[in-house]
Amino acid sequence: MYLANPRVRNISLSIRWSDRHYATGPYASLATCQRPATLIRMRIGAHVRLDSDPIGFGEKLGADLVQLFVVDPQSWDKPAPHPRTDEILASPIDVVVHSSYQINVASLNNRLRMPSRNAVAQQAKAAADLGAFGLVVHGGHVRSDAEIEDGIVNWRKLFERQRDKGGFAVPILIENTAGGNHAMARRFDMIARLWDAVGEFGAGFCLDTCHAWAGGEDLVGVVERVQAITGRIDLVHLNSSRDEFDSGADRHANFADGTIDPQLLAEVCRTAGAPVILETPADGLAEDLAYLREHVG
Ligand SMILES: [Zn+2]
Repeated sequence: MYLANPRVRNISLSIRWSDRHYATGPYASLATCQRPATLIRMRIGAHVRLDSDPIGFGEKLGADLVQLFVVDPQSWDKPAPHPRTDEILASPIDVVVHSSYQINVASLNNRLRMPSRNAVAQQAKAAADLGAFGLVVHGGHVRSDAEIEDGIVNWRKLFERQRDKGGFAVPILIENTAGGNHAMARRFDMIARLWDAVGEFGAGFCLDTCHAWAGGEDLVGVVERVQAITGRIDLVHLNSSRDEFDSGADRHANFADGTIDPQLLAEVCRTAGAPVILETPADGLAEDLAYLREHVG
């Protein structure tokens, strides 16, 4: 009876997956020191609202992991050591870093692409210093008068050039985005083209449900469709959307307020086999997490 319950089966599969994920490379120690206390609890957390005290934020929320920025996300600042590094490293709460917003490694504009490459490398290093399991980077875009293929080539160059320097300090998790007609990671057919170029470098994938929905990708069966393209989902950004399907608008909403059926969000959470980060508005964040705990585990 226990094994026949599909919910339990899916969750145990996801735990095995995450153990395998951490079993090799520089994150091997995480597999032993940050393994979930119980094997049936999904790893769910949220983006930190208080950068100065990420672990305190996570503990108050009851999160298994937190996502944070390592610089002002609107800036080109170079990351400084986090004043609470020791506390973050010692905590059982896992950490993932979201890169700053203006990064666009696909851009054909040298004055944007070059600092973007540097920022990705710097922020990956800062993420490693915090014991983070990855750095989330948006897929980016090229201008509407440019060739999409050139943006994909630039993504490949990002990995090629860094490989020559020994690789990134943490895995780069490419996130799908909601808007634009020349985006690298809005439509899944584009993600397939992108993955043909970057998959061999061990690129990871972050699935954002708001972005997929607003970007015009059906959420029914979305996990299987992504995995068929990338072979992996490393992180889920589980957000509802203020706007309608295929609106192209990137505006996150709490589950109770958004246009996405919360049961569909719970299904993505159950099936993705990856840690989940909520990036929903602060007012309803605790309710969103409680909903997942009730409906997923
Ligand atoms: Zn996101």
